[in-house]
Order: sequence, then structure tokens, then C-alpha cells
Amino acid sequence: MNVLVINCGSSSLKYQVIDSATEGVLAKGLCERIGIDGRLVYEPKGGEKEITEAPMPTHKQAIQMVIDALTNEKSGVLKSLDEIGAVGHRIVHGGEKFAASAIITDEMIQAVEECSDLAPLHNPANLIGVRACQELMPETPMAGVFDTAFHQTMPQEAYLYGVPYEYYEKYGVRKYGFHGTSHSYVSRRAAAILDRPYESLKTIVCHLGNGASVCAVKNGKSVDTSMGLSPLEGLVMGTRSGDIDPSAVEYIAKKEGLDMAGILNVLNKKSGVMGLSGVSSDFRDLEAAELEGNERAAAAQRVFNYRVLKYIGAYAAAMNGVDCICFTAGLGENNGVTRRQICESLGYLGIQIDEEANKKRGEEIVISTPDSKVKVLVIPTNEELAIARETVALLK
Ligand code: ADP
Repeated sequence: MNVLVINCGSSSLKYQVIDSATEGVLAKGLCERIGIDGRLVYEPKGGEKEITEAPMPTHKQAIQMVIDALTNEKSGVLKSLDEIGAVGHRIVHGGEKFAASAIITDEMIQAVEECSDLAPLHNPANLIGVRACQELMPETPMAGVFDTAFHQTMPQEAYLYGVPYEYYEKYGVRKYGFHGTSHSYVSRRAAAILDRPYESLKTIVCHLGNGASVCAVKNGKSVDTSMGLSPLEGLVMGTRSGDIDPSAVEYIAKKEGLDMAGILNVLNKKSGVMGLSGVSSDFRDLEAAELEGNERAAAAQRVFNYRVLKYIGAYAAAMNGVDCICFTAGLGENNGVTRRQICESLGYLGIQIDEEANKKRGEEIVISTPDSKVKVLVIPTNEELAIARETVALLK
């Protein structure tokens, strides 16, 4: 069955068509600047990347353009829309309502809407994509796959914040965690690569991209993760602050004359390694600046690494040990220097890195030495494939 995987944001939409039998990608791409002007990127398997600038006032029109590209006589990969057997949608926040993926129905959509308060920037945009697909493909079954679902197994001591309990009861204030599809996919792959039962492995997954989080997976279940009620908690990220003393928030807001929206904008978009370095949120730019002697760029990377290191230590403690540590996402998959710098301080866990293996990038590889007590792996994440698999499994 071909599965169309959709990851819909407020002004952009990423898509892939995956043949679930072979797990091969037939085509992928994205729509950008929806509602502004419009740009479609379409990349068929084995073909040239095509870029089309065309007006895309709504998401429905954007998805129609994707369908036209997929079924186009020249470079299309499908004869008709009928060859799409299902659509899998990424949905950011499932609150406590969704501990697993779900088939999309009217009731399901209503339940997702009820979680929108917790993710006002993401869930409504995800649902716009769902509704647009429903209009264009009314007969095609669809599933929603949540970023938060994998973390619903966290115990109370991990997810409760130390604030009045009634805020949890009344408003659902707690840690939910994100990147769940990636943490689940990568931790499973680690067990398969190491040929160990997933149900008896203690894994720490470091998803280090522009957004970044660490997850403790014990016996196949997420038991803690660094993002919280929103993706702002935890690691220092590309532009997000991660953990910060709440009193500093009030102090900065007062000094800078910012209201709540203003300060949250700073913490989400102007902080992290971008804010620290004043150079960029992209680690390639930071490395280049550091080589030119930029001290702040160097400090930003050290701060980033140190926070990852602290979470690894915390999660080894939370699980009373760790069998393997995985690096994934843009930085985790490609940046051997960051991996080495983090692992250098993990000697106390009996970790030894194989320098040659660590030079590889973008492939599944064990980068620890054979006698390293804890295995360290690089595993490219594949959230689209995980969404396609979930969708097919649900339809069965
Ligand atoms: P997101 O999906 O959260 O937007 P990514 O997973 O794409 O982010 O990660 C982006 C980060 O990965 C950037 O900081 C970038 O520097 C880093 N990155 C991506 N590709 C490479 C590469 N080839 N070499 C080094 N760093 C890379």
C-alpha cells in the first residue's frame, strides 16, 4: 500500500509517499510559503528535483498541487490518486488523550482540538492539513500519529511539575514530551542493531536537531524526556532556551519591557545557540565561526554539549544504568565532533569511542569500541517511515 505522509505546519507542509511493502520512498517534498505566495518542491524517486513557484493561498490548494505533481504524466509516480491507500498525519500534541496513534474520525478530530490549548501553534495547523486531505480524498482512510504519544508511559514522578497539583488536574499542566515518533523509532532500531530484546534494554536517545530532546527508554517504554508541556523545556536548542529559572523570565521581561508573548518569543526564537552566539542557530555556521576565533560561537557549542551531557547523566540515574546511547537528527547524525565532545565526558560509564567509526555520517553505525561498556550508536531517524508504519498497522 502507498501511504502519503503529511507533516503540516502553519505555512508549510512536508510530504512523502512511501510504499509500505518495500518501505521505499516514491516521492517527497514540501510546500512552503502557503498563504503568502507559494513554492512546491517535488522530488520523485530517481528523478530530478522540481521547484515550482505558484500561488498557494490555502493548504487545500497546496495539497492539490502535491497530488497533481504525484500524478503528473511526465514525472508523477502514481497513475491516479486511487494508488494512495492511506494518509498518515503527524500531529504534535495528543495530551493525555492519546497514548497511541489513532484512525482519524470526527470524534478523534474533536479530541485533538481539545488538546489545542496545549499546542496552539501546532495542533490547529496539523488539523488544517487533515481537513484539506479529507476534502480532496474523502474515501481514503487516515491516521494521526502524535509526537507526544510515546511518552505517555512516563511515570508520575517524571511528568509532574512541582507546582500546585490542581493545575495538573484543572489544566493538564505536566510534562508531555515531544519527538516521540523519533525516540521510538531510534530506540527500536538500536535494539535490532545490537540484536538485543527491546523489552530489556536501557537506551538514551539524543535527538539533536534544530529542536532537540533526550529520552530515556527503559524496557521499550519512555520513562523520561527533556521536553515538557511544550518543546521549550530541556536542552539548549537552535533558537530555544531550554531549561531556565522561571524567575529569570520575569526579570528579563521587566528589564526589557516585554509582555508574556514577547518574552516567550525571545525564549523560543531568539535564544539557544543562536542567542548565545549571535551568529546562527545552525551548528555548521557555529563551527565555521569558532574556527575564525569567535569565542561566543565556541561557548554556545560548549553550553549545548554540557546540557546534553547532564541529561545523559540524569537519565542513566533515572534508569539505574544504561546499555546504549543513540545520536540522531541533523546534528546527532552528522556532527562527529559534537558526539565526541559529549562522549569524552562519559568515561565514568565505561564509554569508549571508536574515532574512525565516529567520522562516518548519516548512516547506522556503532561508534563505540567493542569493549565499551555502554554501546554508542548513530541512527538516522526516519519519522516519515515510522508514521507510514503506524498508519498501516492501524488500518490492519
Ligand atoms: P529540525 O528537523 O529540527 O529542523 P535537523 O534535524 O534538520 O533540524 O537538524 C538541524 C541541525 O543539524 C543544524 O544545526 C545543522 O547544523 C545540523 N546539520 C545538518 N546537516 C549537517 C551536516 N551535514 N553536518 C553537520 N551538521 C549538520
